[in-house]
Amino acid sequence: QFDLGSLDLPDILGTIHEEVRARLGEGEVAGYIDSLAMVPLDRFGMAVVTVDGEVFEVGESRQRFSIQSISKVHTLTLALDAVGDDLWQRVDREPSGDPFNSLIQLEYEKGIPRNPFMNAGALVVADVVLSNYDDAAQALLEFMRRRSGNPAVGSDIVVARSERESGYRNVAMANFIKSYGNLENDVEAVLDFYWLQCSLSMDCVDLARSVQYLAKRGHCGVAGERVVSYELSTRINALMMTAGTYDAAGDFAFYVGLPAKSGVGGGIVAVVPHVMSLCTWYPGLDDKGNSLLGRYALHRFAQMTGLSVF
Ligand code: GLN
Repeated sequence: QFDLGSLDLPDILGTIHEEVRARLGEGEVAGYIDSLAMVPLDRFGMAVVTVDGEVFEVGESRQRFSIQSISKVHTLTLALDAVGDDLWQRVDREPSGDPFNSLIQLEYEKGIPRNPFMNAGALVVADVVLSNYDDAAQALLEFMRRRSGNPAVGSDIVVARSERESGYRNVAMANFIKSYGNLENDVEAVLDFYWLQCSLSMDCVDLARSVQYLAKRGHCGVAGERVVSYELSTRINALMMTAGTYDAAGDFAFYVGLPAKSGVGGGIVAVVPHVMSLCTWYPGLDDKGNSLLGRYALHRFAQMTGLSVF
């Protein structure tokens, strides 16, 4: 067990906040989703939740934002809980080296996405959730509320509508996967669920809590219940390390060294197994679609604490 008492977390977070404040404005918002394109680049938040439930936070850690692809961790958990290893017949576990919204490997691999975190893989995971829960949307909402301990978690209708209006690539991708027979449900139903999960609105503390089970051997301390087995939690962490930040996963392993999952809303969650879960938020993205200052903050955090899975 790592001795957290040896770290001055408020001081470390304060230093990161100061460094980041000098760089606000860098990066680009996700311009392809209208409602995200309007988020200003003048705010940053960060939260740490220890396995004992203690919270450390700085900046706009209580401001809600669009969680986008971070939700892929939670839907993957729901899908694995429902169908177990059968999931791997329909989606692979390899890093892609291509952007999150790439279609290119789908044709070579006959409709089997490279991993559950690129959009293609998340659409297949969404299909599995739809097929295995009576009311998939309700199941996901319920899951998020229990994991975060916040009963007010919900979807932002404006973002969901905006995604639908600009979702040409996801529409194409879902149809392409369907053409290979790798979606059971109607393309529209899969996309609706996918847009709902992406448009959930949560803050850094909610999100750090929502993945505490991945730091705590599969046990969610927030709701006081087991979510997945210890083994499954290690596997989800492995996928986050190899594919959670898309074609920057190598760089994340190199500079941060922690399993992490990003979203184009500017959030990134990260896990220090057996110690803590974290979330950073800054809406300016780098060219790989990951939060620029979020990534910097996690890099500095890993550097200053010495925490890394390596
Ligand atoms: N909703 C976004 C999309 O489908 C999610 C992508 C992301 O956060 N990386 O393009």
